[in-house]
Amino acid sequence: MTDTDGSRALRAEIRGWFEQVLAAEVCLDRVPGCALTEEQDFAERRRYAGVLTRDGWAGLAWPREWGGRGGGYRERLVFAEEAARADAPDPLNRLGVDIIGPAIDVLCTDEQKRRFLPPILRGEAIWCQGFSEPGAGSDLSALSTRAERVPGGWRINGQKVWTSFGQYADCCVVLARTDPTVRPHAGISAFAVPMDAPGVEERPIRQMTGGSDFCEVFLTDVHVADADLLGAEGDGWKFAMTALGFERSINFLARQVRLTRNVSDLVVQIRANATRVPSRAKERVVGIHARAMALQAVVEANMAALDAGGVPGVETNASKVFWSETYQGMTDLGAELELTVPGFGDGLGAAWTSSYLAGRATTIYAGTSEIQRNIIAERGLGLPR
Ligand SMILES: Cc1cc2nc3c(=O)[nH]c(=O)nc-3n(C[C@H](O)[C@H](O)[C@H](O)COP(=O)(O)OP(=O)(O)OC[C@H]3O[C@@H](n4cnc5c(N)ncnc54)[C@H](O)[C@@H]3O)c2cc1C
Repeated sequence: MTDTDGSRALRAEIRGWFEQVLAAEVCLDRVPGCALTEEQDFAERRRYAGVLTRDGWAGLAWPREWGGRGGGYRERLVFAEEAARADAPDPLNRLGVDIIGPAIDVLCTDEQKRRFLPPILRGEAIWCQGFSEPGAGSDLSALSTRAERVPGGWRINGQKVWTSFGQYADCCVVLARTDPTVRPHAGISAFAVPMDAPGVEERPIRQMTGGSDFCEVFLTDVHVADADLLGAEGDGWKFAMTALGFERSINFLARQVRLTRNVSDLVVQIRANATRVPSRAKERVVGIHARAMALQAVVEANMAALDAGGVPGVETNASKVFWSETYQGMTDLGAELELTVPGFGDGLGAAWTSSYLAGRATTIYAGTSEIQRNIIAERGLGLPR
């Protein structure tokens, strides 16, 4: 991104901070002697969230009222670029800081903001998102988890699936049907459910990467107080759409910025193995590089529009599709070279092959590519269903 005077100073400050703090205080699994198990990695990422808060970087764009720095998207973009440059880990409370916290700020009562927001920013409360169910993913409004009124609150029964970080989270936004008599979107409410409440059970799902980043969550007669209904009764759909808007705009920023860094790494590796890499692969990396550059320009334009008061629209759906498909093109090529060109990726421990496996999910989470294309066609281009 081209810097203004203000962002140049901020960039220098952030770069200095990463140089001083990251290596000294955060154990990174790529550092020799620092290989982490999955649980240690999650613990380390939780600790990293605390380090970001301690030094004032966690809430760069959060309102000052809730402990943030009151910055805008440009500041976030600078931070994301410097984090990618420093190869910083993903803080564990990313869902809370980027998606759920901002949705709470828009839709909840002052009492709830005071109760929920500061612990998210301090990295003390890790939140997860209990939206999808076995019978309700793309068609989220078909969800069947139900919440019935009981004295002093609600009783929730049902099952969630693909709940990212559910087994490490302290609290979950659970979407549940509170009124089965109205149209499906209108009868859903959102609840803050503590993960240690009686009746909540998580079962981690083992993925083909070998890790288990997400889990199933079973809810059996879980009691939730009235004070933990997020927004008004029937506002669950609004909560989900607000959260997904933040997911595809703010939350994807870091991933989109990191793609540019990953593509540069691939180019460097191809250059280092130039005589052994087939020319067809070199042609492919040129195309991937061009797409990454185009995405960077789109992201900067989207961010400038949001800073000028715009709301996330179909352009964020388009950049999500473009990012995920470019990411997969990059990992397809990296893994292919790692597996077929002797010496390619030496010292990286099959990093491309593992990114290839993890990258299959990018065209699914936060709405599949097919659903994104439907939205772009209908809302962006005005095409009939
Ligand atoms: C890594 C990962 C993390 C996730 N984290 C979370 C999380 O934290 N919380 C959460 O609630 N969910 C999470 N999800 C779930 C995710 O939101 C869903 O997987 C996604 O919305 C798709 O739903 P589904 O899996 O039920 O697939 P389905 O909706 O059953 O879709 C199956 C296929 O049919 C296609 N399809 C469905 N409907 C249409 C249509 N109308 N037009 C064209 N094609 C269609 C889809 O594109 C897809 O290819 C996560 C998923 C992944 C992979």
